[in-house]
Amino acid sequence: MVGRLAPSPTGRMHVGNAYAALAAWLGARAEGGRVLLRIEDIDAPRVVKDADRWIMDDLAWLGLDWDGDPVYQSERLDRYEAALRGLREVTLDDGSPLVFPCFCSRADIRAASAPNEGDGFLLYPGTCRRLSEPVRRERVTRGDRHSWRIAVPGADAPESERMVGFVDRVFGEQRFDLTRQLGDVVVRRSDGLFAYQLAVTVDDLAMGVTQVVRGRDLLRSTAIQLWIRRWLRVAGVGGDGCDGVGCDGAAGGIGDAGVTDASVEFAHVPLVDAADGRRMAKRLNSLDLGTLRERGADPREVLGYCAWLLRVIDEPRPVGVDELVERFSWGPIAADRADRVVSF
Ligand code: GLU
Repeated sequence: MVGRLAPSPTGRMHVGNAYAALAAWLGARAEGGRVLLRIEDIDAPRVVKDADRWIMDDLAWLGLDWDGDPVYQSERLDRYEAALRGLREVTLDDGSPLVFPCFCSRADIRAASAPNEGDGFLLYPGTCRRLSEPVRRERVTRGDRHSWRIAVPGADAPESERMVGFVDRVFGEQRFDLTRQLGDVVVRRSDGLFAYQLAVTVDDLAMGVTQVVRGRDLLRSTAIQLWIRRWLRVAGVGGDGCDGVGCDGAAGGIGDAGVTDASVEFAHVPLVDAADGRRMAKRLNSLDLGTLRERGADPREVLGYCAWLLRVIDEPRPVGVDELVERFSWGPIAADRADRVVSF
């Protein structure tokens, strides 16, 4: 069992991040598993200097440890490059490339898309997927600004090929239609940065992560990542020679249940909102661990509050990690998965 903490160093941790980190940490430690720490710092414009060190310091303060050295995504760009190169070599049955350049702006996509589920997610309408190979080549050579997208099955594909499925430890059985709900996803952005979806998938596979725990806002991302993961295996580019657990390629095929992968399990936890209903973002400094620590908060108190949000204990009270490891199971949170409202 290998879990991971995957913070983005975009600011100080707040209670919502501590809660998610505790969930990931307990999910692994309660089963005697390892916990890896990966600093997700590839989105350079959003990275805040020193935030990685604040996060590590706050994790340590809470008593959440990790195994081995932290891994920085910014030091793994060659792996993402190799993975993308491998994916770009894959040709689909109809002769089209798995990964194709997309010249659309966000506005183009918005104009061509039907509104989707109201969560700000835009289903890519497939515009550049229909370009011919010579046109693609010409526009790339000409230097037209473009991202790279990975194709999902076409609208005429049978349902069994369009589906991605997994059983979430908290939210239960999940099924997504790649074609209708996800669309061709960006794997490299037009500014040249590797997309979150690609980097995370390459890393989870290469690092041998067997349990991914994160907020329920990433349920859809999990479906996308299972799709990318399948193709990384097909292309033979795990990113790291794939020498960890979960690299045996035993899963990832398309069966009746659609694309799935038995080598990794997922747990998505309810989100935490500030008392006024705004989603807690790191930019809301209220309740950040720096403020709490300055006010003299006791780590056992913060931990107890997070553990209560996770329903590991029945009420907020000071508690240490050892007691939580003993008590932890997914059952109580799976039985109470509404988003949490925090009033600390
Ligand atoms: N780095 C992401 C975050 O801090 C988490 C991504 C993940 O768990 O896959 O929100």
